[in-house]
Amino acid sequence: MTDPQKTDIIIIGAGPCGLFAVFELGLLDLRCHLVDILDKPGGQCAELYPEKPIYDIPALPVCTGQELTDRLMEQIAPFGPVFHYGQMAEALEKLDDGTWLLTTSDGVKLNAPVVVIAAGGGSFVPKRPPLADIDDYEASGGVQYAVRRRDALAGKKLVIAGGGDSALDWTVNLVDIAESVTLVHRRDDFRAAPDTVAKMRALVEEGRVTLQIGQLKGLEGDNGTLGRVLVQAAGDDEPTALDADVLLPFYGLTMKLGPIAEFGLNLEENLIPVDTERFETSEPSIFAIGDINHYPGKLKLILSGFHEAALMAHAAHGIVHPEKKIRFQYTTSSSSLQQKLGVA
Ligand code: FAD
Repeated sequence: MTDPQKTDIIIIGAGPCGLFAVFELGLLDLRCHLVDILDKPGGQCAELYPEKPIYDIPALPVCTGQELTDRLMEQIAPFGPVFHYGQMAEALEKLDDGTWLLTTSDGVKLNAPVVVIAAGGGSFVPKRPPLADIDDYEASGGVQYAVRRRDALAGKKLVIAGGGDSALDWTVNLVDIAESVTLVHRRDDFRAAPDTVAKMRALVEEGRVTLQIGQLKGLEGDNGTLGRVLVQAAGDDEPTALDADVLLPFYGLTMKLGPIAEFGLNLEENLIPVDTERFETSEPSIFAIGDINHYPGKLKLILSGFHEAALMAHAAHGIVHPEKKIRFQYTTSSSSLQQKLGVA
């Protein structure tokens, strides 16, 4: 086993609250590693509404979900946070020395005296089509919900399902390297960006992509190796069998609390109760901020999570450096804080 990566703080969730926590912790010289199942920062802002305007971030009259994320990433850059994207924070174990060992779904191990859960509404997980034996094909790589390595799909017969941006982007993107690409959607109407829809239609016209209107009906293969995808078209008696090495369903994402429910913390209806002085959970040195926590009067707003991050950071400092006292300082007037931010 490789040694765990040591840090001051492990943050589960790189949504806006996890990101701002890096800033508040950074001002106190605490270094952070962040784990997120998504392949990018921003949580709900970047995944659910990147282009929608937000109007209630103090002093930013309007910004989109993506712009807020980009600005937070710029603000925390001086503190050099380490991101572990595309990985679920899966298991949390308390070690004999009182610190925490977090293991991710990729087997990455992180060790820190403090864990901050900023997991929002839970981890984003792909919506799975309700097909018999799909688990077997997922295990063998015959069904994949994200393209982790484009090259790995070279020369394969691909069936891509869905009508949104991901399905159409990958249809257009994989056609040059795949043996064949068939796009399956329940109707001949697509939610993706008009430009991508036009590119897909041109590829269909040229005979380079097959468009199959219908619903996924079943999977066939041998010993878990995918061979065919069955698609039921409205009005047809029998499903159409499409030769396939890999099915890529892009039906969007849903949020689930997931492994955090097994961390042994008190929960109330899938939320983590905390106190409002430190935002600490039922387990000392594990904190919860942002949408995932609950306390009397809680508002699920980004600005509430920012406030929680500031108070949590001061409490966390007392755990990481019990011997050091914090001297309260303003960023406006403290040259030492400005040096940390690289502006003095
Ligand atoms: P999230 O943004 O949910 O991020 C949590 C992250 O944790 C996710 O990226 C998730 O993948 C990750 N995660 C969870 N569990 C795990 C795990 N086990 N392992 C790895 N990663 C994990 N709020 C406002 O204040 N103003 C608005 O105008 C506003 N508009 C909104 C519009 C829409 C359409 C929606 C859906 C929400 C809106 N909100 C708004 C709410 C706001 O987006 C949330 O309050 C905010 O995103 C919460 O931030 P967070 O960091 O707590 O969690």
